[in-house]
Amino acid sequence: MSVETLIDLTHPMENGMPVWPGHPVFEQCSVASFEAGDIACNHSLSLSEHSGTHLDAPAHFVPGGQSIDEVPLWRFFGSLAVIPATDSTPDSVLPASRLEAFEAAHGVLPAGGAVMVHFGWDRYWAHPEEGAKFLRDWPGLSAEAAQLLKARNVSIVGCDCMSIDHFSSTEFPAHRILLGAGILIGENFARLGELPPLCRLSALPLPIKGGSGAPLRAVAHLDGACEGAS
Ligand SMILES: [Zn+2]
Repeated sequence: MSVETLIDLTHPMENGMPVWPGHPVFEQCSVASFEAGDIACNHSLSLSEHSGTHLDAPAHFVPGGQSIDEVPLWRFFGSLAVIPATDSTPDSVLPASRLEAFEAAHGVLPAGGAVMVHFGWDRYWAHPEEGAKFLRDWPGLSAEAAQLLKARNVSIVGCDCMSIDHFSSTEFPAHRILLGAGILIGENFARLGELPPLCRLSALPLPIKGGSGAPLRAVAHLDGACEGAS
């Protein structure tokens, strides 16, 4: 019997957490509390569909594209390949050759599965002195890398940065290529650096009606069944 280890890939949602410049900030406010004499505790929430660790649906960039509530449940479970890229320089793009190097070592990227790129940017997420670095100069995917992932027919492509396209991108090629192919995008993931090259992912976004994306709880499963690509 294998003992499964679960790793939470989700940043806690809290006031003051980083958000895309210009997007609504995440706000949690008390509306009922024991301190105020209320019989129960409750908070109101204000947030964006792209707050914190989240998935982008095709509708984010594709007019008339699939919204997050329309994505079938099976898309949120499957194999997970983690591409190490912490040597990426600020505002750079990951070449397709890095994905090919992963495949040479670990097998073809899993069709129908997820691929996450660990740029190491999550180290800035809640860093007391260096937190501002999270919001600028992050690296991203090259158009060629996005095309390769499209050719592999993966289901989800994600990273630990604010966007799958690099900081100074103005054309957002990775968003256009991936979402245009119906591939979901994951952003602001946590703890990718704690994962082996291959494991399994559960990533369940909220079913927001017509949503261009949604916050989610993402979990990596590590067990004995994680040794090979499928
Ligand atoms: Zn997004």
